[in-house]
Amino acid sequence: MSTLSVAVVGAGPAGSTTARLLAERGARVTLFEAARLPRSKLCGGGLTPKAQRLVPAAAMATVDRRVDRVELRAGGLRPLGLQIPEAAIAMVERTRFDLALTEAAATAGAVVRDGEPVSGAAEQADGVTLRTDRGEERFDALVAADGEPSHTARWLGLATPARRRALALEVDLPFTERLPIDTAILDYRVPAGYAWYFPKGDHANLGIGSYRAARHGALRAELTRFARDLGLDPDQGRIRGHWIPTGLRRGQLATRRVLLAGDAAATADPFFGEGISYAVLSGVVAAQAVDDWAGGWLADLRAYDGRLRRALGPALGRLGWIARLAELTPFVALTVVRLSSTVRESAVDAIAGRRPPFVMEGHCELACLCPDCEGPRAGGRAPERCWAGEPHAACKERS
Ligand SMILES: Cc1cc2nc3c(=O)[nH]c(=O)nc-3n(C[C@H](O)[C@H](O)[C@H](O)COP(=O)(O)OP(=O)(O)OC[C@H]3O[C@@H](n4cnc5c(N)ncnc54)[C@H](O)[C@@H]3O)c2cc1C
Repeated sequence: MSTLSVAVVGAGPAGSTTARLLAERGARVTLFEAARLPRSKLCGGGLTPKAQRLVPAAAMATVDRRVDRVELRAGGLRPLGLQIPEAAIAMVERTRFDLALTEAAATAGAVVRDGEPVSGAAEQADGVTLRTDRGEERFDALVAADGEPSHTARWLGLATPARRRALALEVDLPFTERLPIDTAILDYRVPAGYAWYFPKGDHANLGIGSYRAARHGALRAELTRFARDLGLDPDQGRIRGHWIPTGLRRGQLATRRVLLAGDAAATADPFFGEGISYAVLSGVVAAQAVDDWAGGWLADLRAYDGRLRRALGPALGRLGWIARLAELTPFVALTVVRLSSTVRESAVDAIAGRRPPFVMEGHCELACLCPDCEGPRAGGRAPERCWAGEPHAACKERS
């Protein structure tokens, strides 16, 4: 690509992925991170295979434990244990995982400026201006990946509401012998949400989240009860919470020179609140949009909006419907999962990422949904102009 100068705001999974891919393609990338690295991020740190396939090996080397058994609980129903080796969840600490992603971006050539919060941004016809403590700087393009809430989106007039927003609380607690360390527990005890138990490297991570605002005030007490029900002492850790915006923002996700990625675009899924894989994938889509613009294939970056919606929209839409059904009646939902192997298979498909947009191996190929081309699936690099839902130019010519 040409030597475009690109500012990426936020060194989470979305920002570091965009920065790495663009630097690999020759852009001059500056990755701004407000915190000093390594920084902590409130998160269960459960990585589904979708995310595992999308990140560099160095990030996967930070995995503390793999869990291939999930136990589903709902009210008085008998718990349902599922062995899902093909959808095993990798447990990470975000401090180390995110650092590995950022280091990979730096190795690719991105300049990482941590401890330097961006305090303002404005777009002009011929560039984007960012403000930090060091003063103002101009770039050709800006990728806002500064999480939730995204101040960058607000400064640029892109802060429209997410389709749904969950409040999630979590706490790290010491293990007890009573609890398995090879099984994650998902307990549908709260309306429009669930509580989780994740066995991490040397402790348990417990959390709870719900989309229903009326339930938010009760989440802390419910998480405390959940911990006690599992035989854990909630007072041995500190309960903290944060928002998860899901289902994509309702308004524009891009302007001529600005893109929103990850939580800044509300890319997390509306059922599990899983955000890492979708943040990383949005970083892939963002990098490809900037690369296409640099190569003259796009007039500006506005096409990213449609590309991201085509790539993520169907999967997030399906999960939104499942969330609504589970909210109506978790009992029926669990009974259906128990009785129907087809429903179980589809759930495993969704977690494992065996459906678009997560069907490809490799990196940029992951956003390639060309129905006609076997190239990327066979391990090759996707052709440059391969785009979500659009056949490759070469495939079009063949057909
Ligand atoms: C309690 C909880 C549990 C969760 N558990 C899971 C889970 O188990 N699995 C999963 O997949 N997802 C989980 N999620 C969701 C997941 O954490 C997010 O979706 C994901 O971190 C989004 O990545 P991101 O790169 O968009 O943003 P972030 O990871 O939030 O990164 C944004 C970065 O931008 C930086 N930043 C912010 N403002 C500025 C600024 N002005 N200048 C420079 N830098 C700035 C921040 O410091 C941060 O480093 C959970 C979320 C919560 C709240």
